[in-house]
Amino acid sequence: MRLTPLRSTRRQSVDLDKIALLRCPHFSPDKRKEEEEIVVARVIDGKALAQQVRDRLGKESAELLAEKGVKPGLATILVGDDPASHVYVKNKQKACEMAGIYVDDHKLRASTTQAELLALIEKKNADPSIHGILVQLPLPKHIDSKVILEAVTPLKDADGFHPYNFGRLVEGHPVFEACTPKGVIKMIESTGVTIEGKRAVVLGRSNIVGKPLALMLLQRNATVTICHSKTKDLPAVCREAELLLVAIGKAKFVTADMVREGAVVIDVGTNRLPDGKLCGDVDFESVSQKAGWISPVPGGVGPMTIAMLLENTVESAKRTAGMK
Ligand code: NAP
Repeated sequence: MRLTPLRSTRRQSVDLDKIALLRCPHFSPDKRKEEEEIVVARVIDGKALAQQVRDRLGKESAELLAEKGVKPGLATILVGDDPASHVYVKNKQKACEMAGIYVDDHKLRASTTQAELLALIEKKNADPSIHGILVQLPLPKHIDSKVILEAVTPLKDADGFHPYNFGRLVEGHPVFEACTPKGVIKMIESTGVTIEGKRAVVLGRSNIVGKPLALMLLQRNATVTICHSKTKDLPAVCREAELLLVAIGKAKFVTADMVREGAVVIDVGTNRLPDGKLCGDVDFESVSQKAGWISPVPGGVGPMTIAMLLENTVESAKRTAGMK
């Protein structure tokens, strides 16, 4: 399949299912020819991709219910009054409902004790109607997040944060994969650019984005370099990247001089500017003139992260029902 990057910033939907179909060896040659002329913009529209994923999950949830009588269920646990966390959880719940996933909502007061929270998690671990458990971070300071995240059974770890699931990823046999890096991989795949054999540079080494993303790329046979705040001559390392994945939390940090011509650049960063606007870690204006593909902020990785949370929940429900 030929995918032609447009030199305009016009956003077009990239049809993941269509790309998957074209890669299928049984796809009819006539149909392949007809579809070969697909033109996709170089801006990777995470919002449109996420919608496609959600639509597919909606169908899968309906099938699961019809065939096995199982409705995928996600327990959402939010402790405290942080307004941003309330918005994030609400968005995730809305997306769940649109994809046929049952939401079991728990909003707890800020003074909730660690023991109370652990007791709720234990209850949800044992509840057969629940296939994924989301504990919204950050938790209040008196609660140890590490203890809480490890208390969620690895079998319902829809966020993919449990050390068991992280370890499975290190081994190369992942079960639940962390949502943000999983979404980034789908965004790269949506471009039609192969990951195998590519030089990938991951900026940032957090446990929730940088490290798991590097492992997922390695698993797909990329040659991976992980950069961090102590990396020497960062621009030179970045310039080697055919795939440049950025998650450092520094507004517009990556500029065009750090990017290789034609690279796929995925921006995970979410930064609030003084004027209240959101922006990524990549200077979109300059980098979009040089990169082959680029993801915007907002409308890039964010919606895909939510879509992957739903996907993990539906996959978990399918495993429970013996459909996976
Ligand atoms: P984090 O835990 O804050 O870690 C930041 C990483 O960036 C660290 O590894 C740090 O290096 C590295 N770093 C910081 N400054 C650097 C510099 N000048 N040069 C090179 N490396 C540098 O990050 P995170 O949780 O992964 O989040 C990163 C960004 O992604 C944030 O903006 C966050 O809001 C966003 N995010 C978005 C989503 C989404 O769904 N869209 C999800 C998660 C995160 P050291 O390890 O050496 O300190």
